[in-house]
Amino acid sequence: NSSLHELDPDVAAAVDAELHRQQSTLEMIASENFAPVAVMEAQGSVLTNKYAEGYPGRRYYGGCEHVDVVEQIAIDRIKALFGAEHANVQPHSGAQANAAAMFALLSPGDTILGLNLAHGGHLTHGMKINFSGKLYNVVAYHVDEQTNLVDMEEVERLAKEHRPKLIVAGWSAYPRQLDFAAFRRIADEVGAYLMVDMAHFAGLVAAGLHPNPVPHAHVVTTTTHKTLGGPRGGVILSTAELAKKINSAVFPGQQGGPLEHVIAAKAVSFKVAATEEFKDRQRRTLEGAKILAERLVQDDVTAEGVSVLSGGTDVHLVLVDLRHSELDGQQAEDRLHEVGITVNRNAIPNDPRPPMVTSGLRIGTPALATRGFQAEDFREVADVIAEALKPGYDAQALRARVTALAAKHPLYPGLK
Ligand code: PLP
Repeated sequence: NSSLHELDPDVAAAVDAELHRQQSTLEMIASENFAPVAVMEAQGSVLTNKYAEGYPGRRYYGGCEHVDVVEQIAIDRIKALFGAEHANVQPHSGAQANAAAMFALLSPGDTILGLNLAHGGHLTHGMKINFSGKLYNVVAYHVDEQTNLVDMEEVERLAKEHRPKLIVAGWSAYPRQLDFAAFRRIADEVGAYLMVDMAHFAGLVAAGLHPNPVPHAHVVTTTTHKTLGGPRGGVILSTAELAKKINSAVFPGQQGGPLEHVIAAKAVSFKVAATEEFKDRQRRTLEGAKILAERLVQDDVTAEGVSVLSGGTDVHLVLVDLRHSELDGQQAEDRLHEVGITVNRNAIPNDPRPPMVTSGLRIGTPALATRGFQAEDFREVADVIAEALKPGYDAQALRARVTALAAKHPLYPGLK
């Protein structure tokens, strides 16, 4: 019964160092967030010890009476949050949610239509060496070269030509909203299922600040750790009609025992997501992304060949276009790291540089909004980013500004 520090000082030291890194730098990776202490408490609870194959009330193990309560709370809360008829809260991750949803709806060799990875799609939407690309016949749609918006005419044309069994709408790197009704109309025309992967924007949907895909899609998948701000994990929402297929695709189709400690943490985060405080946080997330986009299209920045894909954002992230900049994605990521801001480089559509280098940056605001950033703080961090991308940047001065912002909004003040 030793503490982590007593039993394993090596791992404890790395955990402590990571806490310090999170506290002292500014996290702007668009897919990251800070889970509340209560979520981490649930995730670190004795529920990690329990096997519970099956579903609440129908388990293959004894002693499930308490985890049944927890899992049912999680199911009920997320159904209410998004207005879904059915929820499966067991997928261990977003990728596993997508694998299970496809397993439920498709047979190997069936055709799926998804957004190309380099144009903002996710690995699980049909990338060649992902399970989705290996098991299914993948046709990809793209963004328009001029507007950088998803080309719905192409989606319709490809759907009619290839008659996919599943159309996937969703993204990992796209700064605008998708037209779910248009996707559903196309899916209906060709007899396809529509699956929306809202992993990135689920928090915005929960707050009513982004259209809800649930009324339009047969299946909606999500992660719980991005804008939604919970523990790392996945969820599948569906119509009541598909409930049985989805459940059996998750267990026993894809997974064994569910992670009931994570499901407890999911339940807590769904409670948080229904609050006014959460809504305000998502509002500040969107406001911060807009402030950032506006700063990065000003003359002093565009003079360095830097611009913003699609000219702005409607969501929690900005895609910086470095195709005409001396800086490539790797150098820009390193530059921001040097001043204490964490982002990720990202391939952008028609990127001339190789995938490990790229000509883009993906910068998101959810984690800073969770930290309490207001408009004035986002203006300051946007200015730091703009200055850091210029040739004559002063790393020390910018780092000091980052440190001041981090100190203004302490993270996990109760943790040491
Ligand atoms: N779907 C989308 C759109 C994502 O962006 C991601 C993760 O980045 C996933 C699914 C996969 O989630 P996970 O990393 O939890 O497997």
